[in-house]
Amino acid sequence: MAIELGIVLDLPAADGDPAALVDLARQAESAGLDLVALRGEAGAEQGLDPWTTAVWLAGRTTRIPIGIAPDLNSPDPGGPGPAYPSVVAKAQQSLEVLAGTRFVTPDAGWVVAPPDAGAEHIRRLADAGAPVVVPARSAEDVRRIAGLVAKENRPAGRSAAVRARRRAGIDYDGVPASLADVAIEPGDPAYRRVTSTYLRGGSPGLVLRPRTSDEVADAVAFARRHRQVPLGLRSGGHGISGRSTNDGGLVIDVGALNGIEVLDAAQRLVRIGPGATWKQVAAALDPYGWALGSGDYGGVGVGGLATAGGIGYLSRRYGLTIDRLRAVELVLADGSRVRTSKQDHADLFWAVRGAGANFGVATAFEFEVSEVRQVGWAQLVLVSTDLEQSLRRYGELTSAAPRDTTVFLVTGRPRQGRSVIQLYAMVDQEDPEVIIERLTPFTELGALAQQQVVRTSYKDVMALAADVGPDGHQGMGEPVSRSAFLPALTGDVARDVTRLLRSGLVYFFELRSMGGAIADTPADETAFAHRTPAFQVTAMGADQSRLNAAWDGLGQHFDGLYLSFDTDLRPQRLGDAFPPRVLSRLRELKRRYDPDNLFRDNFNIDPRLTEEHTR
Ligand SMILES: Cc1cc2nc3c(=O)[nH]c(=O)nc-3n(C[C@H](O)[C@H](O)[C@H](O)COP(=O)(O)OP(=O)(O)OC[C@H]3O[C@@H](n4cnc5c(N)ncnc54)[C@H](O)[C@@H]3O)c2cc1C
Repeated sequence: MAIELGIVLDLPAADGDPAALVDLARQAESAGLDLVALRGEAGAEQGLDPWTTAVWLAGRTTRIPIGIAPDLNSPDPGGPGPAYPSVVAKAQQSLEVLAGTRFVTPDAGWVVAPPDAGAEHIRRLADAGAPVVVPARSAEDVRRIAGLVAKENRPAGRSAAVRARRRAGIDYDGVPASLADVAIEPGDPAYRRVTSTYLRGGSPGLVLRPRTSDEVADAVAFARRHRQVPLGLRSGGHGISGRSTNDGGLVIDVGALNGIEVLDAAQRLVRIGPGATWKQVAAALDPYGWALGSGDYGGVGVGGLATAGGIGYLSRRYGLTIDRLRAVELVLADGSRVRTSKQDHADLFWAVRGAGANFGVATAFEFEVSEVRQVGWAQLVLVSTDLEQSLRRYGELTSAAPRDTTVFLVTGRPRQGRSVIQLYAMVDQEDPEVIIERLTPFTELGALAQQQVVRTSYKDVMALAADVGPDGHQGMGEPVSRSAFLPALTGDVARDVTRLLRSGLVYFFELRSMGGAIADTPADETAFAHRTPAFQVTAMGADQSRLNAAWDGLGQHFDGLYLSFDTDLRPQRLGDAFPPRVLSRLRELKRRYDPDNLFRDNFNIDPRLTEEHTR
C-alpha cells in the first residue's frame, strides 16, 4: 500500500523564528514528502495565525501541499472554535483560491504520529488510508522522516488531499482507461478551468473531456452508470437554458472535438466538430468566400447552437443554422454511434435539429454553407423619449425589410423618460449605397447618439467576440431569462413591453427579427417548428419568479419560445418550445432512443411522462 508521508510543524510563539518554518517546508518539499501540516491554536492571542502562515508557505514553496489543523493543540477538541469564525472562513476561501489544490482542507484529515515513530509504526497508522505526518523541528528531523518510507512505497496518482475533494456517488476509480488522462476532478490543478461556463458557476464532481467519438461513447457508458448524479453536456459553454455545468455531477465536455474540414468544395460541404466556436468557423470559411449563419456572438459553441436552432444575422437570408445541416453524427444513450441525415436515421435527424440535447451527444455536423462576400455591419445607438412608438416603428421597418437585412434591437429600463436603444444590423450586400439605403430608415427610431457602419466580412463580425482565456470560462451566476416568439410586433405588444421595461424587472430586452428564409423550411421538417414568427424576444432579469409573473402576463402576444434563451424550469415551457404534435413525436423517439432518460438536461423530454404534464 502506498503511504503518504509528511511533517507537522508547530507554529512558533510570538518570539519564534518564522524563517525556520519556511526552511523546514522547503526541505520537506525537496525531500519529496507529501504534506506540510501546520498546527497552532486558531484565534490564539499570541503567535502566528495558521491561515496567514499557510499562505506564506504556499508562496515560498512550489509543490508541496499545505494543511492546517487549527485545533490540534486544543486540550478540548470539542471546545470553542476560532475567535472569529467568519474571518477564518474567509481566510480558508482565500487560501483555496491562492494555493488551489495545494491547500489541503482540514476535512481531508491526516494522522499525527509521535515524534519518534519508526517505519513500522508509520505503516500501521497509514492503514487508516490518510496521510501520516510526523512532528519536525529541524532539518535533521525532516531527513529522518523522509527516510522512514522507501520512495517506491510512496503514492503515485492523486493524493489523499485531492481524493478528499471527491464527490459522493461517482466511481472515480472506474473512469475508463481511455479517459483517465482527460478526466478532471475537484482536487486537480486544471479543475478551476472547467467548472464555470460563460454565464454559470458550478462545481461538477467530474469533467470528462473526450477527444474522439469513441471516447465520447466511453464517457456516455460511464454516465450510464451514474444516473444518480446530474449529467451536463458541454461544447462551447455558452448555454443559457442548457446546464453544461452542475454541482457534484458529471460533465461530458466535447470542446476538444473542434475540427473544421471541407468535405466537398463544389457543394460547399463542411464538417465541423461541436467544440469549435462560431468565430473559428467563420474564420475557417472566410478564405473560400463562404459563411455559415450562426448566432450574433462568435464565442458561442457549435454543439449547443446547432442542436437547438441558430437564429442570427444571416437567418432571414439563408435560414436557421440547422437548416444548413446535411448530417449530424451522434453518440446515443446506448453508446452506439450513428450518422443521421435525410437518408439515414431520418427520424433522429429530424429530432436533433431543434431538440438535439435530448437524444445524444453530437460529435460532428455536416453543413452546406453559403457564399457570402462582404456584408454591411452596423451598430447604432439611439435615444428614444417614446419607447412604445420606437418599438412599433421598429416592428414595421423590420417586417418590411428585404431578406438581406437583419436588425436586432436591444434596450433596457428607461431612465428619466429616455430609453437607450441599440441596433445591431447586418446587410448581406456589398454595395455601400445599398447598405446605407437599407439602414437609413432605422435611424428614425430615436435621436442618433452613436453610429458605426462598415463594410466588412462575416468573419470580422464574429471575431468581435472575446476569446476564452487560458483559465476557461469565468461565469459565476445563474442566468434568469425568458424567451418568446412573437407573430407580430403590434401596437399592443409595444405598449405592454414598454410597461414591462418601465417596471425595472428586465435589464436586458432583445428583439431579433426573424421571417424571410426561416419560413422556407416546412414546419414539419425539423423539430424546431416555429417557422413563421416575425420576432424572437428575450428578457433577462434578476429574479426568476418575478420575471415569470411579468412575462406570463404577456402570454397572449406570444406563440412558443426558443429554448436556448429561456431559463424557466416549469414543465409548460416544454410545451411552448415544441407544439403538441412535435412534442409527442419527440417523446416517442425519446422512448425509443433514450428510454431511461440519460440525456435529461435542457428542456427534458421525459419518456415516462405524457403531454398532459406540459399543459
Ligand atoms: C452571448 C450569447 C449569445 C448568443 N447568441 C445567440 C444567437 O444569436 N442565436 C442563437 O440561436 N443562440 C444564441 N445564444 C444561445 C446559444 O446558442 C445557446 O446557449 C447554445 O446552447 C450555446 O452553445 P454552446 O455549445 O456554447 O453551449 P454549452 O453551454 O456548451 O451547451 C449548452 C447546452 O447545449 C446542449 N449541448 C451542448 N453541446 C452538445 C452536444 N455536443 N450534443 C448535444 N447537445 C449539446 C446541452 O443541453 C448543453 O447544456 C447565445 C448565447 C450567449 C451566451
